[in-house]
Amino acid sequence: MTLTDKFGRPITDLRISITDRCNYKCVYCRTGNEGALYGDLPFDDYLRMARVLVSMGVTKIRLTGGEPLLRKGVVEFVRDLAQLRAPNQNGSGSDRDSDKDPLDIALTTNGHLLADLAQPLKNAGLTRVTVSMDAVDPDRFTRITRVPNGYDHVLAGIRAARRAGLWPLKVNCVLMRGFNEDQIIPFGMFAREEGVTVRFIEFMPLEEDRTWTPNTVVTLDEILARMAEYRPLVEIPHARSETARRYRFDDGVGEIGIIAPVSHPFCGHCSRIRITSDGKIRTCLFSVWDHDLHAQMQQGASDEELEDFIRGVIQKKEERHHIGEPDFVPASRTMVHIGG
Ligand code: SAM
Repeated sequence: MTLTDKFGRPITDLRISITDRCNYKCVYCRTGNEGALYGDLPFDDYLRMARVLVSMGVTKIRLTGGEPLLRKGVVEFVRDLAQLRAPNQNGSGSDRDSDKDPLDIALTTNGHLLADLAQPLKNAGLTRVTVSMDAVDPDRFTRITRVPNGYDHVLAGIRAARRAGLWPLKVNCVLMRGFNEDQIIPFGMFAREEGVTVRFIEFMPLEEDRTWTPNTVVTLDEILARMAEYRPLVEIPHARSETARRYRFDDGVGEIGIIAPVSHPFCGHCSRIRITSDGKIRTCLFSVWDHDLHAQMQQGASDEELEDFIRGVIQKKEERHHIGEPDFVPASRTMVHIGG
């Protein structure tokens, strides 16, 4: 079964934010306040939402936040998700679980608590992890995250994930002019030394402080030009639905990716929907409204009624974002309260 929006885009990729609390206060994301705005739900509620969406065609689930590893019970939740089976991609149409594909279950984390959780998460059925890390220089890292001594924890988390076999292991770096654009080449070296894929992300206007301007964005072209000063890059062909453009270094050692939603938008191939920590569906990061799936559940909706609700919501998925255009309207939530 496929879930398709009105522009013909298959919706296969679900992101669930399991809390909007975060233990970091990254300058491009948070104001520096402590609190969560929306709270979170019992894991059983997310599990039911996931089960219904998987039965409708979702094949990938990514847990995010806030910081998802702050939630007690995350390992058990992954174990429960891993019991779900994705509809078979070869179109056999079989209803037997043994004929279906395992779900791809990924996690986006700041890595601070990952060192102790990587192996339990892998054992529970987690397939992949992406660690956010915005500097390879410890002092710069502290300046960006506004939390002391985080760098060593995150590095230990990355190495523990690699040992646990959470592969491919990706490290995401948001570049913001004036903060960390000088980290581009050091991250190229890091990718080669640590054997991870480093992906640079263009800064989007989703921050709590509303500091974004076009000039704060370090673009794909700039990143490529800077990296080429270090070593030549060779582009790797990528699937159209992949958000990142991929490159390897000319000697075959190390891979980097660039996610360029501002300078090279990929909305036409977007396959994602998101569920916020308080159970709302968001059809685009830049949506100005959300759709209350949890309220439907509280009102006693059956699984079939939830499916109808979801199908209606998917038809409202936005065609594209309008970043940098005169008619741009800021999203109704910032990144930390959506789930990136
Ligand atoms: N706490 C987890 C983490 O740090 O990965 C998960 C949530 S965090 C909101 C998810 C991702 O969104 C991180 O990679 C973060 O760097 C990115 N992010 C946050 N604000 C952003 C912005 N304004 N533009 C681009 N990426 C952003």
